[in-house]
Amino acid sequence: MRKKIVAGNWKMNMTKEEGQALISEVVNMAKDEVNSQVVMVLCPPFPHLGYAKKMFQSQANIFLGAQNCHEKTSGAYTGEVSASILKSFDVDYVILGHSERREYFQESDELLKLKVDQALANQLTPIFCCGESLAQRQAGSGFIEFVCGQITQSLFHLSSEQFAKVVIAYEPIWAIGTGLTATSAQAQEMHAALRKHIASQHGQKLADEISILYGGSAKPSNTPELFACPDVDGGLIGGASLKSRDFIDIAKSFK
Ligand code: 13P
Repeated sequence: MRKKIVAGNWKMNMTKEEGQALISEVVNMAKDEVNSQVVMVLCPPFPHLGYAKKMFQSQANIFLGAQNCHEKTSGAYTGEVSASILKSFDVDYVILGHSERREYFQESDELLKLKVDQALANQLTPIFCCGESLAQRQAGSGFIEFVCGQITQSLFHLSSEQFAKVVIAYEPIWAIGTGLTATSAQAQEMHAALRKHIASQHGQKLADEISILYGGSAKPSNTPELFACPDVDGGLIGGASLKSRDFIDIAKSFK
């Protein structure tokens, strides 16, 4: 059985006080309400990583994630954070290839390949984001091939053993922060295509073990239907992860 995962990408939000309050609410509610089989990942901005893990150490199904890492091991890269530094702060997951980083920081498939390697070399689980633009979706064809291509470019150099450690997040760019959610049929179509693509490289057994998350205006009102799709294994949540009630309700959306 592949993991059911709900990850919260706080993006560039939350002061220290706000972050501490949010984590403490999430931890308390999760204890009573969320099935312990559901993996919850909190991905705050870097400075929060220093204290966050201590707040949920007793809770086996809550993990810590970063939103990025550098492609080099260490050195003179002012302002950057390496995968090994993240690991030393007990970080478990790292979001890589988010469309905001691809767009605003010119992160290419080639660069992401190096970041994925750094993450895996430091025992971090990459949450690798992929997704098409509105123009690509509206063109009506080729968008599935484009998204599969992102996986090929940044992940198909990995061995099966390495690939098995990756989590994929399908985030259609047109659905991120727009209030426009992919329909469950659109999400299922893409997730099934991604799984088939992974199977073509690594075999069906491995493909069936990879968690593929959906992201883009996910909220408690649409996650029950999205998570009921056979190939949707959870969500990467932006805006709704900043509200404890919403984030917890999303984590309760699995049947
Ligand atoms: P929203 O849930 O705010 O649309 O953001 C999705 C996202 O980008 C998560 O990484």
